[in-house]
Amino acid sequence: MNPIKRGRIITGNWKMNKTHAQALDFIKNLIPQLTNEAVQVFLAVPFTVIYSSSKEAVGTPLVIGAQNMNDASEGAFTGEIAALMLKEAGAQFVILGHSERRYYFHEDDAFINRKIKRALSMQIRPVLCIGETLEERESGRTQEIIDNQLRSCLADIPADTLKNLIVAYEPVWAVGALEGATPEQAQEIHAACRVCLSEILNAEIAQQIVIQYGGTVNSDNAGAFLEQPDIDGLLVGRASLSLQSFIEIINPLNNEDET
Ligand code: PEP
Repeated sequence: MNPIKRGRIITGNWKMNKTHAQALDFIKNLIPQLTNEAVQVFLAVPFTVIYSSSKEAVGTPLVIGAQNMNDASEGAFTGEIAALMLKEAGAQFVILGHSERRYYFHEDDAFINRKIKRALSMQIRPVLCIGETLEERESGRTQEIIDNQLRSCLADIPADTLKNLIVAYEPVWAVGALEGATPEQAQEIHAACRVCLSEILNAEIAQQIVIQYGGTVNSDNAGAFLEQPDIDGLLVGRASLSLQSFIEIINPLNNEDET
């Protein structure tokens, strides 16, 4: 795993979209537009595309990863995919605990904790998604939920192995929604996440961990999120599906950094 500096990481999450041909076409057009090394662009592609897109991304700033994996090393788990398979295919990171996995496939924190351990043991960077539901937010439990998710998902993992963890704060009510959180709402929770991480791990490592915001990010609101002191990057669903909208999120940052 190459070390990352806490900086701006924009991750596209394609979910169950794009055929092999569509994905390669997108990636071939994306790569020449990634000119600013200050912005790291990650793309979580479908399993079927990992191998060829990682080959395409060799020697470029683009980092290819997966959207999920199983915690077991191998075995009779029909339809699942193992960390070693992802690693060999070229995945450098894996999204774990996405709210869609938690909701549709009933994944719990204990399962996600085992997946994180497996990913780390295979040198695949975990992107741990956490976030509260609308009901939890409205009952004033956001902080408690976030704290519990971080503590359970990161339980019994040595702190020094977690420096390269990425945490994605994705309020469940903001994912795939019409309106996401405001930058101020997100900043408040990101700061609280960092406090919690410094309690679970230590202050030094908590300062290094990239905390991304995800939930209805687009080119109009991306800059405002990234201005917040504890928002180190973005996890982008729908707006990463069109080359133009993804580039519009990435390139304002490039322009800023070049001035
Ligand atoms: C996501 O898939 O993690 C996500 C945040 O989706 P969207 O940007 O479409 O809300």
